[in-house]
Amino acid sequence: MRQNYNFAWVFDLGHLLFPTVCRACGFPIKKETEVLCISCRFKLPRTFWYKMHDNPVYRKFWGQIPVHEAFTYLHFRKGNVVQTLLHSLKYHGNQDIGESLGRMFGRELVSGGWSGPEVIIPLPLHADKLRARGFNQCDSVARGLSESLGIPHDTASVKRVIANPTQTKKSRFDRWLNVEKIFEARAPERIRGKHILLIDDVITTGSTLESCGRCVLDAGAERLSIATVAGA
Ligand SMILES: [Zn+2]
Repeated sequence: MRQNYNFAWVFDLGHLLFPTVCRACGFPIKKETEVLCISCRFKLPRTFWYKMHDNPVYRKFWGQIPVHEAFTYLHFRKGNVVQTLLHSLKYHGNQDIGESLGRMFGRELVSGGWSGPEVIIPLPLHADKLRARGFNQCDSVARGLSESLGIPHDTASVKRVIANPTQTKKSRFDRWLNVEKIFEARAPERIRGKHILLIDDVITTGSTLESCGRCVLDAGAERLSIATVAGA
């Protein structure tokens, strides 16, 4: 008679020692809060643009709104690990990825001597979109950043009041007109006189961030800096 060996306990033990796997390569990792293994964290395609005042993200806002500093953490390329992670965050609701990326980003900013902002504002989603998706992917990034930068994040002071019309096939100027006044400050007293760090997951044209940044400045922010997790 054939004997049935049950090795499930081996996997249970493995799961106990390594409760999760790296979201990029599948390698087991011990700490559940870290979504990437050491090797994948090391290999992330960083821009280091926070070390350069003048960089491609900062230049997007030239002549548009007064931005103190603007930069992105990682290079976004079709098919790269950054696209995979952000897709998993946004479309599969894996908010631990946003929190972990936010924490890593913040830790690197702190160790690079970067400081200044007093409040983090994640780019708000329109209420309809928030209802449909169930979460704002920027909020989890803001939570992680807030933890490692040691400054609060505010998801209530700015609201998106107009859902965006489709922006494809429009010029930058038309896009700018489209996104003008789509945000409203609901609690300007929490923004006034402060250095605000506005964040988003990915920057493309920058026109939505520009519109929200304008709203934050109109509400009386003393300074505006912009950071995104990734940029093309
Ligand atoms: Zn890995």
